[in-house]
Amino acid sequence: MPSLILILGDQLNRNISSLKKANKHEDFILMCEVSAEATYVKHHKKKIALVLSAMRHFSQELTDAGYKVIYIKLDDKSNTGSLESEVQRIAKAKKCSWVIITHPGEYRVYENLDSLKNSNLEIQWIEDDRFMCSRNEFADWVKEKKQPRMENFYRYMRQKHNILMRGKQPEGKKWNFDKDNRKTPKNGEIPSKPRKFKPDAITNEILSLVEKNFSDHFGDLEPFEIAVTRKQALIALNHFINERLVNFGDYQDAMLENEPFMYHSLLSFYLNIGLLVPNEIIVKAQQAYENGHVAINAAEGFIRQILGWREYIRGIYWHKMPNYSNSNFFNAKKQLPEFFWNGDTKLNCLSQCINETKNNAYAHHIQRLMVLGNFCLLTGIQPKQVNEWYLIVYADAFEWVELPNVVGMILFADGGYLASKPYASGGAYINKMSNYCKTCHYKVSEKTGEKACPFNYLYWNFLDKHREKLSSNQRLTMVYSTLNKMGHERLSDIRSDAKSFIRSI
Ligand SMILES: Cc1cc2nc3c(=O)[nH]c(=O)nc-3n(C[C@H](O)[C@H](O)[C@H](O)COP(=O)(O)OP(=O)(O)OC[C@H]3O[C@@H](n4cnc5c(N)ncnc54)[C@H](O)[C@@H]3O)c2cc1C
Ligand code: SF4
Repeated sequence: MPSLILILGDQLNRNISSLKKANKHEDFILMCEVSAEATYVKHHKKKIALVLSAMRHFSQELTDAGYKVIYIKLDDKSNTGSLESEVQRIAKAKKCSWVIITHPGEYRVYENLDSLKNSNLEIQWIEDDRFMCSRNEFADWVKEKKQPRMENFYRYMRQKHNILMRGKQPEGKKWNFDKDNRKTPKNGEIPSKPRKFKPDAITNEILSLVEKNFSDHFGDLEPFEIAVTRKQALIALNHFINERLVNFGDYQDAMLENEPFMYHSLLSFYLNIGLLVPNEIIVKAQQAYENGHVAINAAEGFIRQILGWREYIRGIYWHKMPNYSNSNFFNAKKQLPEFFWNGDTKLNCLSQCINETKNNAYAHHIQRLMVLGNFCLLTGIQPKQVNEWYLIVYADAFEWVELPNVVGMILFADGGYLASKPYASGGAYINKMSNYCKTCHYKVSEKTGEKACPFNYLYWNFLDKHREKLSSNQRLTMVYSTLNKMGHERLSDIRSDAKSFIRSI
């Protein structure tokens, strides 16, 4: 009896573990475009277009390679709209009682598909071996650690996989070169832009489909210039390694008006749906260092993001789910402001980052963390709403990577399990790392009053408000000592400015 092998929209890789089980002549490969996945939150139009176009290209590749592919299009008349019901329908039609699935990235998808056990279908779950640390290995590493820090995990991974190592010592005699990675470009010009890709006939068909079915979703659909095949993703990867990695380290935290991509790789789009795998990217970055093309701070800084952060975040997600999504350490209750959907705000940094997000379904890490995230933390926005926003607006957003970044990193909603202290800052940090403040309605140099940068008083107000929960944190000793020395009048201005600002949004 044939097996049914379900390939999900983020598993578009010829080496995906489920496909390795396939008998080309007997088994059926099922791929489905279902409205439930596009609408459980109203994803950015570009994200839907990326996933659907990449799926159609991948199914073509599998068919050409001789697999028996059953591809369900979104507007097929018989499409029942959810993964579970499509699996049931096709399994019945093809007389399969056995479904093989590589473990999904998201808990929600796993739960939905696992419910098929209650029908007559048997499911064989297979580990997703695209990750360099399996869920079991991470569980082993994390067990009995009260605060499992990324830096320790990263060192463990460097040693285990022998990446940027000289024997037992880290290359360059340091594990981390972040101190060299905080420059701001002086003339504001980024000479090398990411590679763009022209839509082909398949993508154009998808663009019309998305416009027709999801016109009320957030974001601009066009121009659509993202890679949709492995071949194109490899071109994007090589272009990044050859032209842009060299500056990645130096300007990793920098932000400039009208430079949404800086020297970032934009590879998360491709990594997260399977067009690229982490190991091949790391190998290329390491080679670029070894052949003298890039300095250690660039190679190490970049490799840390993928081998360290990405694997660690995924490990934390599966270790802490399902309860992690309910975390709310500060009991934050505020609604997400309307301007997160249209960028219509006088805070220039937010307006820049939101508009770029709307145009590109992308913002780089420091924009997500120190502008948008910092604002949500300081103003006390409900974690559920923040999570939903991040999941909607980015083309690389999948819950396994979005949720720990929001809950653990930006909101400290897990009480410090993931981060050793909240990533909170006043306007000075944004001013140091960007040119946003130059043209802002607010003055970054002013601490309180009508024209003062809201981040300034919101920052101190946040620390003041959460004294009980935060003041014993050793990494905050200095800031609490500054806060404790503040005069009563200054503190009272901070509280009152913060209160009226938060009320006004
Ligand atoms: C609040 C918040 C939400 C985020 N949501 C997502 C998300 O939904 N999907 C997503 O892929 N990343 C997310 N990130 C992580 C990071 O911002 C993006 O991976 C990165 O901006 C993608 O752009 P890039 O490919 O140009 O990255 P680069 O800066 O070029 O970094 C290279 C790669 O490292 C990995 N990486 C870097 N930082 C992280 C991190 N903190 N967590 C996991 N992987 C990381 C990514 O795969 C990325 O492609 C989020 C970060 C924050 C602070
Ligand atoms: S002054 Fe404040 S609000 Fe304006 S851009 Fe700078 S940090 Fe943002």
